[in-house]
Amino acid sequence: MSVLEIRKFPDPILKEQCSSVTEFGPQLHRLLDDMRETMYAAEGIGLAAPQIGEKVCVAVVDIGVETSELIELINPVVLTREGKTSSEEGCLSIPRFRETIERAKGITLSAQDRHGKPFELEADGLLSVCIQHEIDHLNGILFVDHLSRLKRELFRRWLKKNMQNES
Ligand code: ZN
Repeated sequence: MSVLEIRKFPDPILKEQCSSVTEFGPQLHRLLDDMRETMYAAEGIGLAAPQIGEKVCVAVVDIGVETSELIELINPVVLTREGKTSSEEGCLSIPRFRETIERAKGITLSAQDRHGKPFELEADGLLSVCIQHEIDHLNGILFVDHLSRLKRELFRRWLKKNMQNES
């Protein structure tokens, strides 16, 4: 297993649509293991494949509340959304920037596990928000794309100040 480099905004891969996974073999398992290691090393609660440079519909999530539980999502699709919730989000690809985003409060989704077996999941609260954030990544959407015009302007100013001198 290896800790991979996390792609940072404005890396163009973060804006691309990912492709569905069709092979559930050792290559996928290695990717999942590396993504888990990378997420834990970065102390993140979720990581999507494009963040480590792979354009495939794969994400890992572990919100680490009470007990740590890793969820592997392959080809996830949101089936239903219910209610609204606002919470502060951040992203390993936009380090140090945090802002409040409104999303669905509860969701149900379908996905496949690492062996290709389909499953459904109901999520609420932080887990729901985190999964929506990761599924967005698979569609080339970043959490800052949900900001209001005013907050997006603040983000642009923040970027100018904070990311210009970063290598
Ligand atoms: Zn993110």
